[in-house]
Amino acid sequence: MSSATAITPTRADDFPEWYQQVVRAADLAENSEVRGCMVIKPWGFGLWENIQRQLDAKFKATGHVNAYFPLLIPLSYLEKEAEHAEGFATECAVVTHHRLEAQKQEDGSTKMVPTGELAEPFVIRPTSETIIGAAFARWVESYRDLPLLINQWCNVMRWEMRPRLFLRTAEFLWQEGHTAHETEQEAMEEAKLMHGVYEEFLTTHLAIPVIPGEKSARERFPGAVNTFTVEAMVQDRKAIQAGTSHFLGQNFAKAANIEFLGRDNIRHLAWTTSWGMSTRLIGTLIMTHGDDDGIILPPRIAPTQIVILPVTPKPETRDAVIDACEALAKTLRSQTYHNEPLRVHVDKRDIPGGQRNWEWIKKGVPIRLEFGPRDIEKRSVAVSRRDKTPKGKEFIPKEQFIRDVEEILDSIQTTLLQRATALRDANTKKLETEAEFREYFKEDAPGGFALMHWAGSSEEEERIAKEMKVTIRCIPKGDQYAEEGTCFLTGRPSNRRVVFARSY
Ligand code: AMP
Repeated sequence: MSSATAITPTRADDFPEWYQQVVRAADLAENSEVRGCMVIKPWGFGLWENIQRQLDAKFKATGHVNAYFPLLIPLSYLEKEAEHAEGFATECAVVTHHRLEAQKQEDGSTKMVPTGELAEPFVIRPTSETIIGAAFARWVESYRDLPLLINQWCNVMRWEMRPRLFLRTAEFLWQEGHTAHETEQEAMEEAKLMHGVYEEFLTTHLAIPVIPGEKSARERFPGAVNTFTVEAMVQDRKAIQAGTSHFLGQNFAKAANIEFLGRDNIRHLAWTTSWGMSTRLIGTLIMTHGDDDGIILPPRIAPTQIVILPVTPKPETRDAVIDACEALAKTLRSQTYHNEPLRVHVDKRDIPGGQRNWEWIKKGVPIRLEFGPRDIEKRSVAVSRRDKTPKGKEFIPKEQFIRDVEEILDSIQTTLLQRATALRDANTKKLETEAEFREYFKEDAPGGFALMHWAGSSEEEERIAKEMKVTIRCIPKGDQYAEEGTCFLTGRPSNRRVVFARSY
């Protein structure tokens, strides 16, 4: 294993296949017998639980509460918002029957046949604006009942034609925030607030730098007035939409009849928002931080932050070594890292040390600690950081490690963010002409983010998307993108650059 990598192929050889192999090598998830639906294995689900807990704390801190709504949405609810219904029409799983009937076959076997057709079909929620809107309509009477600040953690179903583990699955886990407000301004502030929460979470917790911005009309959520997005660049220089926050205006309030008696004693329609992030974050994490030996987990989100590997060369010292490892784990677990107890695991399996070590490398655990008879004697530990090369082991006095562990974890977290930021910045380019644009995104070119002056229509954007598979990822937020220029495609005046890229 000295020069070869743990994952074949390497990222440079075949990035999409490398991704599949990393997911498998880390034992994060697998494809199921149901096309497009995955089995999330304990290591992958551990990541999701940490994402969930830490994100949920941010929702609570901004005044939101959790609730739960039905999985099935009456078809008529979807029909009330035409643009929304059309947007999701091709991805809907529809429930049409409510029971099965056993039919005996000639060969003696039994076939179960759906029967009892429903008067009104249900759609398995692809998103819940319509059914939550119906509840909001019941809950709101006057301005005193507003704002409603609700979040739901659940699964949704969008029948995706080209599924890819975590990044795009037919069934996925997510959170969907839904809020209703008295005024347009308040709803817009909420949509922007949660956009900011997403950006902060991605950067600080997942070490994923993102470009926050607004979607163009063509890329907007069906039925939304504005969609705010956070766009990440992964290592093959494609973009991933990591989360979205929508200002829905009064469109959904009108459809669901969310009305309230205002301060002026007149009935008004509420203003609503919705916002979501999903298990796609795990795919984004892998593609951002993995190397040719597998995934590298940012410490803040890793299910295990430190794995202790007992070194037991002789059977007669094995018990003493294991006891010392357990004692070290106990000491570490009594410490906290960003307000959560340190997550430490002792791997006592009696398997060859090399194999055990490589399993944890592929799983991306931030710190591996080897601890054996000689280390007990010398009161030191052998520390391997996952962000360094696999062979880079450092011997540190045990007490010093215990004292500095938070600092070491933070240093790994920071390194990951810096690396990802450097990659993105090195592959982001300001271009001026259509010829340069076509050259940058031509078939076998590496591509990246192109910052372009744009004043085209949705049709012109569509043409580029069809022809070159490149889309506007966002109209980025921030003064650094505001400048006078001319649209590279139409020659019309433009006062801002937008981000174009290929995407997952
Ligand atoms: P949306 O409600 O369409 O804005 O979706 C909210 C977020 O969910 C998006 O920004 C994506 O990051 C994520 N998402 C959308 N579709 C999928 C999918 N098929 N699989 C996993 N995540 C998804």
